[in-house]
Amino acid sequence: MKCTTCEKKAVIERIYEGRALCKDHFLKSVEKTISKTIRDNNLLKRGEHIAVGFSGGKDSSMLLHTLKKLSKARALKISAILVDEGIKNYRDVSIPDAKKFCENLGIKLHIVSFKKGIGKTLDDMVTKNKDKTLKGCTYCGVFRRKLINEKAREIGADKVAIGHNLDDEVQSIMANYLRGDILRGSRIGAKAFVAEDKKFVPRIKPLRDVPEKECALYCILKGFNVDFGECPYASESFRWSVRDVVNDLEEKYPGTKFSILRTFDRILPAIQKTAKTKGKIEKCTSCNEPTSRAICKACELKKLIQ
Ligand SMILES: [Zn+2]
Ligand SMILES: [Zn+2]
Repeated sequence: MKCTTCEKKAVIERIYEGRALCKDHFLKSVEKTISKTIRDNNLLKRGEHIAVGFSGGKDSSMLLHTLKKLSKARALKISAILVDEGIKNYRDVSIPDAKKFCENLGIKLHIVSFKKGIGKTLDDMVTKNKDKTLKGCTYCGVFRRKLINEKAREIGADKVAIGHNLDDEVQSIMANYLRGDILRGSRIGAKAFVAEDKKFVPRIKPLRDVPEKECALYCILKGFNVDFGECPYASESFRWSVRDVVNDLEEKYPGTKFSILRTFDRILPAIQKTAKTKGKIEKCTSCNEPTSRAICKACELKKLIQ
């Protein structure tokens, strides 16, 4: 197969847009997509300090690398925040490589841990929780968001960038639909709307238009030493089933993922409007962090694992 543009050997066939790309044209095309997402959604302002939620995995490595590339022209300051959830034989083994990756890019890496910040490792939470219906991913998502937000605030970051790719966004959209939890959809989008409170650092997703497969290919072609392993708790999640369904549809009907994303983006403003009027921001009575409830989700989950 040859590149549709230059006739060189193709590294990927993008069935959803009917063209094949060589290595150079592929890398350029992905970077263009990211720049377009940033520009169209006004994600970055000149001179901002961006904290990247960094795990050492393919998505966040690609995000860190591409933001660093953009940082010079836009006078951005880039930092990385890594959450050590305390997952044996998974996170512990990937941290040295993550440190090295940041070092090579000249980016300061901040490491926060569940053990220190929450009081327990994720391994302990999963084995010791009273409510067996709660899976590892429930704790992980809530606590990770909390710790990243707190660290970002502490280092004075203007925004948090997270490496959610197209597949992640589409899985979130579908999972919310299937759970009947449409208002949670207000967190989806290039600029994740949490709530307007100065204690929440706004979250941006520059990779949301890049398919997961292309994030992986980008890292391989760039020769990044990244961790392609899956979290050992991932298979427990509802998302996993949603992912299979969506991948199956994409294979049969190329372009499905983009359609789901674009359709959702059209109704997102209405969802956000409803979420805004519904969710009044209060202070959590336990930890004083902003929340729309009396006790925030993190504090509620903390109680369950004590
Ligand atoms: Zn080419
Ligand atoms: Zn709280």
